[in-house]
Amino acid sequence: MTVNKFIRKLLKLKELVVCDYELNERKRHLLIFVKPYKNGCRCLECDRRCKIKHQSKLYRLWRDLPVYGCQVELCYRPREVLCPTHGRIQEDIPWADNYSRITYRFEFAMLVYCQIMTQKAAAMLLHIAASTLSDMLHRSVTRARQNHRIRDLKTLINQPTNQPTQPTTKANSYP
Ligand SMILES: [Zn+2]
Repeated sequence: MTVNKFIRKLLKLKELVVCDYELNERKRHLLIFVKPYKNGCRCLECDRRCKIKHQSKLYRLWRDLPVYGCQVELCYRPREVLCPTHGRIQEDIPWADNYSRITYRFEFAMLVYCQIMTQKAAAMLLHIAASTLSDMLHRSVTRARQNHRIRDLKTLINQPTNQPTQPTTKANSYP
């Protein structure tokens, strides 16, 4: 078994291939270079497999669950694909939500921890600063709400109304 395959199996990384890794022992940081496995090049809107148009020169990072006190980050250069319906668009990332900087499983653990303990305790378990966790949690909840929004309502919302707008004071209170 190759080292890359060993890392993939040990960390239970699914739907991706490990291409390379960098371990900084002093900083307790593991950077894993990955790419989608058999499920790349899909339009993030309709999930259709499309032609590759362009591969980004910039690497993107996704924070994953820590392992034995070591921070883990996945690293990949997302491609742009040409979808017949949606045109030029970023490919779907199998391990994370669109434009998210954390993996699905990190997000899941964060949301579960935050329901049963304080944010400070959850941040300790996830090896991040409490302020970072607070930001991530906020982005996560905002993204979840956007996904649930009905798209056609946009046109209704954009119409001017005579109703005074309600102040959004509940932005920080999660259900
Ligand atoms: Zn599409």
